[in-house]
This record gives sequence, structure tokens and C-alpha cells, in this order.
Amino acid sequence: MRVLIIADVHGNLPALEAVLADAGPVDEVWSLGDLVGYGPHPNEVVQLLRSLPFRSLAGNHDWGATGQADLAVFNADARAACQWTDEVLTHETREYLLGLEVSSVFGSVHVAHGSPREPLWEYLTNVRLAEINFGYFGTQVCLVGHTHVPIMFRWRQGVHGAGAFLTAVPNAGDAIDPEDDRLIFNPGSVGQPRDGDPRAAYARYEPATGRFTFHRVAYDIAATQAAMGAAGLPERLAFRLQYGS
Ligand code: ZN
Repeated sequence: MRVLIIADVHGNLPALEAVLADAGPVDEVWSLGDLVGYGPHPNEVVQLLRSLPFRSLAGNHDWGATGQADLAVFNADARAACQWTDEVLTHETREYLLGLEVSSVFGSVHVAHGSPREPLWEYLTNVRLAEINFGYFGTQVCLVGHTHVPIMFRWRQGVHGAGAFLTAVPNAGDAIDPEDDRLIFNPGSVGQPRDGDPRAAYARYEPATGRFTFHRVAYDIAATQAAMGAAGLPERLAFRLQYGS
């Protein structure tokens, strides 16, 4: 079995289509939340993914765009995008988003949008926070999104009891094997990367071997920006896509 892992698609259809084409045939697609918000194609993204063998969690923007989160917690651009999304969501997309869980176990992997401790809102940006969060899930591996920055935290149990926490930033093409370690892995964002690389980020996973691979793929950023302009979404949100910031 082969699984495509995506996070933070954020209504960016050209980015999602590029990822699906680059990943090739897979048996399942797992999303770590934030299907909508920021981007111009929330209904198209949800419709396309639901035509596949697909599972998703809710992210904070999925909640923001469906009246489940107080928009005061978002910055002005994110809030404007949530409001725009709320207005254009079809009944079908809205019902789907409203039904999403905030954390779960897919296969044998714990999944949460932000963190296992605080699934919708916590940003796992450093090893100190990761260390705490290893206590909040029971599986060997946890997948998260939310920061839009690919990163891997690894906890290695020492022979004499003391463990070691390691952090690594994956490069495109890297394979990640948990071996006997526990992992928290963030595959980055499909629709709005923020690590300085504007290409869409995603991962593939082979449950039989436990191996993850990390990938980047270029997409038609200008097409997404044009659709954002036509929709009247904030200019800064379109601009940042070309810098991956
Ligand atoms: Zn997001």
C-alpha cells in the first residue's frame, strides 16, 4: 500500500493537482487539515480529494471558514480569506468540513493538524515543544501540519534509559525511516509553503516498511495568483506564494 500525505492545501487547486500528478498512483490520500482558507479554490479542492480514497482532519482554517472558530484569533489577511471562503463554500463542502475530526489515528499513525497536545492551534516549531508532545500520543509516529514548514523531530530511546531528541529539516527526495525511534513529522504545505521554497511540499508513506519520503514539486503559481486576484482575496496572500514565505 502507498499513501500520499498532504497538509495545508488551503484551497490551492494548481498546487494540489501538481502534487497528485507528481506522486503518481497511490492507494490512499491522508490530509492533515487546512483544506481551505487563503486560496481561491476551496470547493474544487475538497471535491477533487473526495473523488479519491481520502481521509482528512480539520485544521484551524477549516474551522474559521465554517463558523467553528472565533475569527478574532486570525490575522487580518487570514480572517479576510476565512470570511471569503465562508461565503463561497457550497453546502456539500461545508457539511464535509463540519464533519472532520481534529485528531485521529490513520493506519497506525497518529495525526493532528497542529500538535497531539493541542490539535487545532499549537505550532510545533522547536524541539522543546516536540519533546512535550511526545507524551501526548501512543503510536510510534505522529504526523502534523499547521506551521507550513517541513521538519522532523526524532526521539531515540537510549540503552540506559535516557533518550535523545533530534531535529532534522528534510530535503526533497529524502527517505525517513523511523527504525526504533519515535517521530513527529511535518511534511510541509501543499498550498502555501513557508520555508522559503515556493514549491508544493508533500510526503509519501509505505506502511509495510514504515518509510516516509519527502517531496517538492513546482506548480503554476501565477494561475493561483490570478484566481486569487479575481476572487478579491488579499494581495499579500497571493504575493507570498512566489517566495514560499
Ligand atoms: Zn495552514
